Amino acid sequence: MRITAVRVIVTCLDRNYVFVKVITDQDGLYGVGEGTLNGNELAVATTIEHASELLIGRDPLQTEDLWQLLYSWSYWRGGPVFMAAIGAIDLALWDIKGKVAGMPVYQLLGGRSRQGAACYGHAHGDEPAEVEDSVRSFLDRGYRHVRAQLGPYGGKGMARATEPRRPGLPRTSYFSPQPYLLSTVGLFEHLRMTIGEEISLLHDVHERLTPIEAAWLARQLEPYHLFFLEDPLRPEHKESFRLVRQASTTPIAMGELFSSRWDCLPLFEEQLIDYIRVGPIHVGGITEARKICILAEPYQIRSAFHGPGDIGPIGQAAAVHIDVAIPNFGVQEWVTFPELVHEVLPGACRFRDGYAYPSESPGLGIDFDEALARRHPYQRAYMPLVRREDGSMHVY
Ligand code: MG
Repeated sequence: MRITAVRVIVTCLDRNYVFVKVITDQDGLYGVGEGTLNGNELAVATTIEHASELLIGRDPLQTEDLWQLLYSWSYWRGGPVFMAAIGAIDLALWDIKGKVAGMPVYQLLGGRSRQGAACYGHAHGDEPAEVEDSVRSFLDRGYRHVRAQLGPYGGKGMARATEPRRPGLPRTSYFSPQPYLLSTVGLFEHLRMTIGEEISLLHDVHERLTPIEAAWLARQLEPYHLFFLEDPLRPEHKESFRLVRQASTTPIAMGELFSSRWDCLPLFEEQLIDYIRVGPIHVGGITEARKICILAEPYQIRSAFHGPGDIGPIGQAAAVHIDVAIPNFGVQEWVTFPELVHEVLPGACRFRDGYAYPSESPGLGIDFDEALARRHPYQRAYMPLVRREDGSMHVY
């Protein structure tokens, strides 16, 4: 069996996604993958196109060797764009492997450790009572884990966004840590008083705090028993997590901006986090995400794979296949997609009563209608900008 073509498509289905098809010389056999990297879709697509020439004529079942080839070929390795490109191709290779085996991908990763993956949804509002209503709407849909935000990010510390200079350019918001910190503590006091202790509550700082601010917040939130506090610090300086850890027993989740196992290792080795939040498509695919979970296991660190709206249904499916197989699964971030997304990508994971279930079809169990996607071309878009009160950039 040989790879004959790699096709990459950037499509805007309400938002931009990067999808690939890896085609083989076997009649009708192909794999689908995804490398969506919000705001950087064209950079990933170009990297995939450049790398794809290396894959033509190779055996698609050699997932490990092809991963090592893609990681090593350019010499300039690593980073989010490069690893998302590898991730897209790796997912497609696992999809082919599953189709050849006649099994869903989770069977190739060790089989089921659980029937479904427990998911958390995103509750938010401008005031605590609005967030409470939003949390209750998730409980009504069967969720047992809910992320709660005033905002959605930055809470009372985030001044209203200024309009972009022209459509498509990023909006700018202004962040002040003190009102954010105080309003966030008040939010969780309100939620525990009104909703009680039955539900697992999560909160995402979105990398906006300094180490001492994050340590203060983690300590102040202890009475409200968070399931985890996410992304308390920017990802570059791993040693900063020691300060948060020493200050508090609030569980910590980190990793959506990580792009490899080498980002994770310093936090694992000192047990500075409790949940690893990488997105499988952003760390080089199923091959690397599974290795990261294996590395986390002896440190009793669990998975909480990144899964917001800017990861599409193929990336979501890859995450859920890993979720149900690994022993140290924690929770899965979950969003629902607009109908158009499901029309272009039939076969997405099933969701019921707070749990996600992988497809039982061979491979990832999801398909991709290229012709329909091409009718919805890429539209230029950027991530929003955040500045400090004085107008300087807030690097988070
Ligand atoms: Mg986050």
